[in-house]
Amino acid sequence: MALIVQKYGGTSVGDTDRILNVAKRIKTYVDDGNQVVVVVSARSGVTNDLIARAKAFSENPDEREMDMLLAVGEQETIALTAMALHSLGVKAESRTGAQAGIHTDLAHTRARITEITGGDIKELLDEGKVVIVAGFQGINAVGHVSTLGRGGSDLSAIALAAALKADICQIYTDVSGIYTADPRIIKTAKKIPEMSYEELLELASLGSKVMQARSVEFAQKHNVIFEVRSSFNNEPGTIVKSEAPSLEDVVISGVAVDRNQTKVTVSDLPDKPGTAAGIFSKLGEAGIIVDMIVQNVGRGGKANLTFTVSKDDAVKAERVLREACDNLKGANVSLTGDIAKVSVVGTGMRSHSGVAAKFFQVLAENNINVQVITTSEIKISVGISLEQAELAANALHTAFGLDKI
Ligand code: ASP
Ligand code: MG
Repeated sequence: MALIVQKYGGTSVGDTDRILNVAKRIKTYVDDGNQVVVVVSARSGVTNDLIARAKAFSENPDEREMDMLLAVGEQETIALTAMALHSLGVKAESRTGAQAGIHTDLAHTRARITEITGGDIKELLDEGKVVIVAGFQGINAVGHVSTLGRGGSDLSAIALAAALKADICQIYTDVSGIYTADPRIIKTAKKIPEMSYEELLELASLGSKVMQARSVEFAQKHNVIFEVRSSFNNEPGTIVKSEAPSLEDVVISGVAVDRNQTKVTVSDLPDKPGTAAGIFSKLGEAGIIVDMIVQNVGRGGKANLTFTVSKDDAVKAERVLREACDNLKGANVSLTGDIAKVSVVGTGMRSHSGVAAKFFQVLAENNINVQVITTSEIKISVGISLEQAELAANALHTAFGLDKI
């Protein structure tokens, strides 16, 4: 007998039929003798709809009331899921976040979990009941309803799995798992059977938003093994855990493409300590995130700095930098084009040499010019022209053996 935490996202509980399908799936786990705790999201679209209703009164609605409002979405689905289980003859009871003892700090709309007591979940399980818990919501120290930030049901499920010491946490969604690349871009993309938390975090930060990043960090910190899988089929999904021996011979896990980057060049900067610090602190103060960076030393004690920002921040970045450059005589700012960031990610990079060599060789063979580079211990990213992004991603996917894992 295992203790399983299952989380069903908004599309999985999107309507009555889907809720019934979810209940049928839960029943198979119960019939196999497992104890099951289920965390559900609001039906897809409901949270957005509630936000829109609030905005009819104010652009910045009171945050305490906002949480009171948004928590409604999950409360609908816990009750309906429990009823669906009853209709199948399965004993089940629903619990709000507060009833499940999900305690948070005092922040509203993006509260952090401080403690999970589980409330009476253990007793309910011992009575042979399935417990359905509202995701995304908690209760703070002064007894008010709080919510955990958009996508927060993932966090509720992972944190509950940690607190209850569950054997596994299953995250049911509308995709069958995590893929080696976006299947819309790369036809040969494959589902990854097992990967590490770090890899998923890198891939998530590169735009494949299957799970809320905060919940993956939480899982990593508390060593919660989870599986991302689909509620629309019975295929095994992707198991995410800390680095395991079985992962060792896989060098690269995935290739990602981000088409949302703009290059900014600041030229003729004084080539002396503190210049870059000055530039980047101005951008930081303006809330602009800088991604890839290169610096070329020019002539006569001048340097050029090129970096990328998200396309949406480009105009703001240019304005902030022009102001900063007023104090740096002769320095110039220009937006130097939209580019694509193509990355490969894999914990195997730590133990295998030659990954960078192969990466750049593949680009060279395909006549792809690299404009900016950035790396981490488990990732290499390059900024290249938008037109060549697909070519690069496909060539790298093949070269690193991902077409046939
Ligand atoms: N219903 C919340 C949202 O849409 C939480 C979740 O779905 O995870 O953000
Ligand atoms: Mg979600």
